[in-house]
Amino acid sequence: MVRRAIPHVPMRPLWRCRNCGAEWPCQPARLGLLVEFRGDRTALLFYLAQLMVEARAQLAQLHPERAPDLHERFLNWARARGDAGPGPDGDPDR
Ligand SMILES: [Zn+2]
Repeated sequence: MVRRAIPHVPMRPLWRCRNCGAEWPCQPARLGLLVEFRGDRTALLFYLAQLMVEARAQLAQLHPERAPDLHERFLNWARARGDAGPGPDGDPDR
């Protein structure tokens, strides 16, 4: 596993990646989380849910008029595959 000087971690309160500037969790961050929580999907989802709550509160203060779909962004990608069919793996860039 390659470690870079700047990890793909969220910059609060913007919730953009400190490394690549994408909306967190970016693809490298997702991969890293999958490795970190390999074999414990429940813990991963719990961890992401906590971060989602934090992000929602902070983003709501920054953009009270917008309500981003954080559930999709934080949780859907991490769900176990195979039960609901393949989902689109693309990143809607809004
Ligand atoms: Zn990143």
